[in-house]
Amino acid sequence: MQISTGDILRKAVVEQTSLGKQAGEFINRGALVPDGLIVNLVAERLQEKDCQSGFLLDGFPRTIPQAESLDEILKTMGLTLNCVLLVQVPQNIIVERLAGRRTCKKCGALCHVVFNPPKQAGVCDRCGGELYQRDDDREQTITHRLQVYENQTAPLVNYYSQRGLLRTVDGVGEIAQIRARVIAALGDLVQ
Ligand code: AMP
Repeated sequence: MQISTGDILRKAVVEQTSLGKQAGEFINRGALVPDGLIVNLVAERLQEKDCQSGFLLDGFPRTIPQAESLDEILKTMGLTLNCVLLVQVPQNIIVERLAGRRTCKKCGALCHVVFNPPKQAGVCDRCGGELYQRDDDREQTITHRLQVYENQTAPLVNYYSQRGLLRTVDGVGEIAQIRARVIAALGDLVQ
């Protein structure tokens, strides 16, 4: 099961739940949502039935305190992390990818105006929903998000490599190529 904290937060913002009201402003300016909110959200999500046969955390943890909390959460569940995947992409390519990314309002599918364009502009290939550009995918906000990554998330590379959990993949190239590299890096963990 893939658990994306970003997807959960965006849905909460659209639905105007209490979590969404607290998180919306942070997301739009490219800042991290406070650790306490995210940790509770993940702890609750992992209790659901669809996580019982395993899960992949996407976008979490993003800070050292989140990683420490994740260790605690897993401990209480009697689980340990199998691996942490680091997909390496130079900053200029990240900016190009995010600035051209479009997201479906209805099903959340992703495409790119140049690298993976929809058959009909503005319309999702998968469900016919409307494509939009996330506020935090605008160039100025992307630059800020990259700074936040360097300051708060990059230290996790050491945190997990010291624990022997880090597997690194070159994220430059075609989607299919990168997918094959990810599967090869996960090796024994995927059938
Ligand atoms: P993403 O879709 O993973 O790029 O996340 C989009 C935004 O949601 C981030 O820029 C943060 O504002 C917020 N967010 C998602 N995951 C986390 C997290 N683990 N910790 C703090 N904020 C998060």
